Amino acid sequence: MDATTHALTRAPKERLQACLLLSGLLALLGACAGPGRTTPSPHPGVGHPRTQSLPPWYGLTGWNRLDQIEGWLNSNGPVKNQQWISRARLALADGLLDIEDASGEQARRRERAKGLYSTVSTDVKATDQEKQHAAHGLRRADGSGVPRSQAAAQLTYVLPRSDWRARPARPHDMTPATGPWRYITVHHSALSATDGTAQDQAARDVRTVQNGHMGASRAYGDVGYHFLIDAGGRVWQGRELRWQGAHAGGSNNEGNIGICLLGDFDKIRPTGAALRSLDLLVSDLHRVAGVPNGRVRGHKDWKSTNCPGKHLEGHVSRLR
Ligand SMILES: [Zn+2]
Repeated sequence: MDATTHALTRAPKERLQACLLLSGLLALLGACAGPGRTTPSPHPGVGHPRTQSLPPWYGLTGWNRLDQIEGWLNSNGPVKNQQWISRARLALADGLLDIEDASGEQARRRERAKGLYSTVSTDVKATDQEKQHAAHGLRRADGSGVPRSQAAAQLTYVLPRSDWRARPARPHDMTPATGPWRYITVHHSALSATDGTAQDQAARDVRTVQNGHMGASRAYGDVGYHFLIDAGGRVWQGRELRWQGAHAGGSNNEGNIGICLLGDFDKIRPTGAALRSLDLLVSDLHRVAGVPNGRVRGHKDWKSTNCPGKHLEGHVSRLR
């Protein structure tokens, strides 16, 4: 590993500035470590029992994690934990791009991130999933993808949460979205259809879905879907894209954007307006969130369920 690539630890002042800019983002991950903060040695002692199975940065958060990964990659850490190399490179590259996206400067971090992604994408030891992650990172670094946090901002037709008077989310009951978006999964609400085209009725329907998800029986941190579409074709912002959804069951939610059409499509047909909005949203999510083309699924592709309903599943399969 070339010493000139030690971008994080060589720029403590910039690091602090970027850290302040990123404070909102990293508040989720842990406290900002200022440049004066002492961090543990990146060179763990030989024979430390933890280093035999897990790298020293495992479980760390925020700046400390990126610093530790950088130090670990530049030390003999990878020699002892080879199976963690690609994951370390990807995590560092993601972090560098997050800093760059927040600060709008420091082009060298982008170059460093691209170098790390390229290394992983050609590494014979990297897994298919790691290579896919690297390919997504390269697209993002080249500007053809956008960061998760900004993807929703480009969908200008999406009605904000305030328009349906959303309950505040409970961050502690949600998982931050990490890694690339890999799938879009379509659902129906299975709630009995309303007349559907009145905006205030649709907003009530979205609140009903959220209440069901946040209530005692499920206790999700927010509505489980990232977007909801009503019969009038309005697209409502559900859970923000910085959070993993809760709609496809356990690990199926990782990298999986959830879209719910309001209505019971085992009983009625979705409106043309709703289907056109679904098509538009899916096509935009391929573009702005980097979901690979063809990765559109119905809920029933993940588990045994009727969702998204017999009158919607055919349309969903045509989006693949
Ligand atoms: Zn479903």
